[in-house]
This record gives sequence, structure tokens and C-alpha cells, in this order.
Amino acid sequence: MTAITAEHLRTRVRGLLAAHPPADTARADFLRARFDAGLAWVHYPEGLGGLGAPRSLQAAVDAELEAAGAPDNDPRRIGIGLGMAAPTILAYGTEEQKQRFLRPLWLGEEVWCQLFSEPGAGSDLAALGTRAVRETDSGDWIVDGQKVWTSSAHTARWAILIARTDPALPKHQGITYFLCDMHAPGVEVRPLRQITGEAEFNEVFLTGVRIPDTHRLGAVGEGWAVARTTLMNERVSIGGMRIPREGGMIAPVAAAWRDRPELRSHALHQRLLELWVEAEVARLTGERLRQQLVAGQPGPEGSGMKLTFARLNQEISALEVELLAEEGLLYDDWTMRRPDGVDFTGREAGYRYLRAKGNSIEGGTSEILLNIVAERVLGLPPEPRDDKDLAWKDLSR
Ligand SMILES: Cc1cc2nc3c(=O)[nH]c(=O)nc-3n(C[C@H](O)[C@H](O)[C@H](O)COP(=O)(O)OP(=O)(O)OC[C@H]3O[C@@H](n4cnc5c(N)ncnc54)[C@H](O)[C@@H]3O)c2cc1C
Repeated sequence: MTAITAEHLRTRVRGLLAAHPPADTARADFLRARFDAGLAWVHYPEGLGGLGAPRSLQAAVDAELEAAGAPDNDPRRIGIGLGMAAPTILAYGTEEQKQRFLRPLWLGEEVWCQLFSEPGAGSDLAALGTRAVRETDSGDWIVDGQKVWTSSAHTARWAILIARTDPALPKHQGITYFLCDMHAPGVEVRPLRQITGEAEFNEVFLTGVRIPDTHRLGAVGEGWAVARTTLMNERVSIGGMRIPREGGMIAPVAAAWRDRPELRSHALHQRLLELWVEAEVARLTGERLRQQLVAGQPGPEGSGMKLTFARLNQEISALEVELLAEEGLLYDDWTMRRPDGVDFTGREAGYRYLRAKGNSIEGGTSEILLNIVAERVLGLPPEPRDDKDLAWKDLSR
């Protein structure tokens, strides 16, 4: 088979644009045609929105479509599906699961959420206690438990869910991974208000929720390996977003610096310059990370990227609030909202400052990511773990 080149893809994009001119085509129709032409995520297999092409060529496709004014599938709104559910389904799903879930996921017709964290099982995720018990007659699984901090659960149609299926095994071994229907009886979503005032995330109570065995992802008891695929992709998707030069959090603060000379001071100038350079280094490192991904699955480097992203976002948003002085302390809107996703640049400095606090917690706390970098990148001795071989039911909680 001849290798697919950027030129080959550009020709294909031009074909798509000719057959479905964005100006005369409904957004949803264009996106469907794009998926079916294999131009959604080019590294996915044919028939699943891709062409089995190198992942690095996606950028050429995106640039060509953007230049033509084609609609995108709003990755902000469907980030969990795109960044976490999709690569996990691709890696572990059956053919039926891939056919059923990937197309509506990419099109944004079905939003996904991630039912991982629980009260008492966040950083130590493998300690989770939500139970899934298999019914003898039907072979279905019955799930009971509570999840927490579930972003987008209020808009989600599906969830990736990990649950304990064998409490007699050590904590990493008795876990199984499921695809959970958020509309199933027994799923209750309650908003949790954040420091920003809005409720991006929720508590989710699962009471006797029935999940057919066909919605199990991977083998029974092997959910931890599946979850690790999700978590590694999560870090890359949080820390490795493609942003233009002077884009993201540095953009509004750089703009305020240029437009408002009265706010400037020498000390702030020095800090702004340092952070601008760091933001640029992080952007280019993210680019290199994406290129490395072409060669394989995300590795622990994604944790380093996510750490940097969290630290920089917090430092830059703090500088912005300081630069704007009293004005930076004014909060734009405290009404309770349930947004579709995070909008870092669509609101005021105060929002950015408060929302950035969550960056060092969501997707794995910075302390945990430092542990991962220490152990898996630097090869330092692991943290002592005395609960690795104990049955989950015998752990102290
Ligand atoms: C905005 C936001 C969105 C989120 N969205 C989701 C979601 O959609 N789905 C989902 O499942 N979860 C979600 N989470 C949850 C998030 O993944 C957890 O909050 C996170 O993993 C930390 O777990 P925890 O809150 O239980 O804290 P804990 O694990 O209790 O940690 C408390 C503190 O102790 C530190 N700590 C714990 N263990 C160690 C250790 N071994 N070494 C050093 N320090 C340690 C932690 O770093 C932290 O500072 C979200 C969180 C936020 C803030």
C-alpha cells in the first residue's frame, strides 16, 4: 500500500469542499461528510473517520479546512469524548463498539463524561468502591456507587466508567471498565458548584444501574490497564492542546500590556517576559509531544506537559489579576451556570484566575504527576506501597 502523504490528504480535502461547500452546507451535514471521507481523525482506521494515515498529517487537513471556513466539531464541548473515550474505545473496543460509538462521538451528537473519581478515590483511583455485580440470568452488570467531580455529566449521553467487580482481589486487579448509558434508570446527576460560581461538574449517584455485558470495554478484571490508557490520553489532551503563538492564557495578558500603558511597571514587565517565553517553550514542547505521539501511544511525557500547563496557567492568570489591579478583582458574573465546557478566554481575568486553580487538580494532581515523572521518566525509587497485594476488601478505608 502506498503511504498517504499530506498532498494526498489535501486533494481529498479539496474533494470534500467541492462536494459540500461549507457556505451552502448545514454544519451537521458537513461534519458527517468529513467523517465519512476519513478526514475526522486521519490516523483512525478507514470506516471510523480516518484513513490509517500518520497522525502528524491531521494538522495539514485542519489547516486546509479552517482556511476554507469549514465548521469544526467544537472540541471544547466534546473534549472528554475526543480526548479520553475515543482513544480508549479504539484501543480496547470490539468492532461493534467502535462502529456504534466513534461516529456520534466525533460529530458531537453524543457527549461523553468520565465516571472515575469517587469520594475517597481520586489520586488513589484504584481504591474505588463503586460495585458492578454480574446478574447470573441476563449476564448484565448491576452498578451501585457514587462518583464525584464529573465534568459534563449534565450534558453527557454516555460515560466511561470504572467499577469494582472483585473485592477479593488487590485493588488494581478487581476493576472492570464499562461504557455507561447516562440515560439509564438509576443514574442521578447533581450539580456541584465550583469556586468560579458555575457548575461544570457534578456528583453522580448510581443506583442499580443495568449495563449490558456488550458495554464492557476490555476483559473482566482488567479495567485498570484500560483506565491507564484513558489517563495517559487525558494528560496529553489537557496539557498538549494545539494553541497558536501567543494564544491561550498569555493572550489576554499580553493584549492588556500592549493596550493599557498606564498599567505597566518594570517589575511586571520582567515577569510578563519570563512567562511569555515559558508559554512559548510550553507550546513548542506540546508540538514535539504531538509529533512523538505519531510513533506510538502517549507515555509519561504527557504528565510533564500537563504539569507545566497547570503551573503556567496559574502563574499567568495571577499576573493578569495583578496587572489589572482593582479591576482584576472584579468578578464578571456569579450566576449559577451549567456550561458545556471550560472557556478560558471568553471571560474576565477573575474567572481565569479562579478556574486555573482546578488545572493542578483535574486530570491528576500535580503532586501525583510529579511522582509519575520521578518514577517513570527519571527512574527514581517508587513511593512505598504496602497495599499492592492486599485484597481490596481488607484495605483500611
Ligand atoms: C475541574 C475539575 C474537573 C474534574 N473532572 C473530573 C471528571 O470529569 N471525571 C472524574 O472522574 N474526575 C474529575 N475530576 C477529579 C480529579 O481527577 C480529582 O479531583 C483528582 O484526581 C484528585 O483526587 P481527589 O480530589 O480525591 O484528591 P486526593 O486524592 O484526596 O488528594 C488530596 C491532596 O493530596 C495529594 N496527594 C494524594 N496522594 C498523594 C501522594 N501519593 N503523593 C503526594 N501527594 C498526594 C494530592 O495531590 C492532593 O493535593 C475533576 C477535578 C476538577 C478539579
